[in-house]
Amino acid sequence: MTAPMVIIGSGFAAYQLIKNIRRQDTTLAIQVFTADDGDDYNKPDLSHVFSKQQDADALILQSGADFAAQYQVELLANTRVERVDTQAQCLYANGERYEYSKLIFATGANAFVPPVKGDGAASIITLNSLSEYRRSQQALKQAARILIMGGGLIGVELAMDLQTSGKEVIVVEPNSRLLANVAPDFVALKLEQPLRDGGMTLELNDYVTTIAPSASEQAFMVTTKAGKVFDVDCVISAAGLRPNTQLAQQAGIEIKHGIVVDAQLKASADNVYALGDCAEINGKLMAFLQPIILSANALAKQLLGQSSQLSFPPMMVKVKTPSYPIQVGGKFNTDSSWRVGFDKGGVTAEAFDAQNNMTGFVVTDENAKQAFSLLRKLSAA
Ligand SMILES: Cc1cc2nc3c(=O)[nH]c(=O)nc-3n(C[C@H](O)[C@H](O)[C@H](O)COP(=O)(O)OP(=O)(O)OC[C@H]3O[C@@H](n4cnc5c(N)ncnc54)[C@H](O)[C@@H]3O)c2cc1C
Repeated sequence: MTAPMVIIGSGFAAYQLIKNIRRQDTTLAIQVFTADDGDDYNKPDLSHVFSKQQDADALILQSGADFAAQYQVELLANTRVERVDTQAQCLYANGERYEYSKLIFATGANAFVPPVKGDGAASIITLNSLSEYRRSQQALKQAARILIMGGGLIGVELAMDLQTSGKEVIVVEPNSRLLANVAPDFVALKLEQPLRDGGMTLELNDYVTTIAPSASEQAFMVTTKAGKVFDVDCVISAAGLRPNTQLAQQAGIEIKHGIVVDAQLKASADNVYALGDCAEINGKLMAFLQPIILSANALAKQLLGQSSQLSFPPMMVKVKTPSYPIQVGGKFNTDSSWRVGFDKGGVTAEAFDAQNNMTGFVVTDENAKQAFSLLRKLSAA
């Protein structure tokens, strides 16, 4: 009997791949190993659980067991893969050996927690998965004052949502602006004002050095490099992600920033592939949904013996900050030149490279409605 195709992970990347395969093939044997319970949920919904007063269970779209039945896969939930042997084409989990014909890493990424001193450091909360939210939801619900380490995309989304839900929020960000790697300064500045007006403390150009348990029970005294001290009930780290590559690395598979794969999503070992937040595709990490959708589509074809070449068109990211909606498309950097329009509908800005080619755009507020037409313009450029 031929060994099944094995997928490690049950996040968006894994489940998107399975859905794509099953659209074309209902007989291929698929085994899914996941360290969590395998329930299907939409991870971006974690950005607004506080204002919507949703607990972790409310985010589940389909239980792991129901997903497995619907898509005819064998789901090994709460089963962490401990070791992979790419020579023997097998893996080990729960003390058992399992063979594979093809192996797909969809192991995601871990939230990065910057090194911090103090006995409170072990209580830092991360919110990069449903299970992380489940573990912390009670503490977050009861907290009145919450400090967020990191003012990037996730930090800002969580901060605005916590503020909307009535919490006192402090964001500590090492850069001089929020959304430093996402949006240009003139957009970030416009976001900062309404957040401050709503009572949020933005501590920019600074970072957390120590978290000590405070005198009052279950609270923390957070000290920053600049010497500021904040008394808070919870600390969340939203300081970026690190691709989950340890298992692949131990198996001798090439790793740089993520699991290195080519435009066919092939890793350095035979019959091994990777997609999603764990993968470094043609040198790039892309930890958001649109590249995963395109990757899953291309990889499904590849695994079913059809030819496919993955290419990424200009893509768009929505910053889920409802009181100041922002849509960002394409690429830009500090060398980009900008054509910026401000009107009562918000900002419409196009980015250009040194050859005056349009490379990206940012739209805000009401002007966010222009995002798709700008994306078309960018794709045609
Ligand atoms: C708060 C938040 C908001 C976001 N909002 C947006 C948004 O608006 N738009 C957007 O495009 N993107 C957004 N993203 C990013 C997007 O959600 C992720 O890129 C995507 O969900 C990653 O999916 P994944 O399957 O690669 O990884 P994950 O969902 O992390 O799945 C990894 C899986 O691997 C399993 N696993 C790992 N190691 C092992 C092992 N050894 N054995 C067995 N199983 C293992 C885990 O249990 C898990 O099931 C957001 C992310 C967050 C955290």
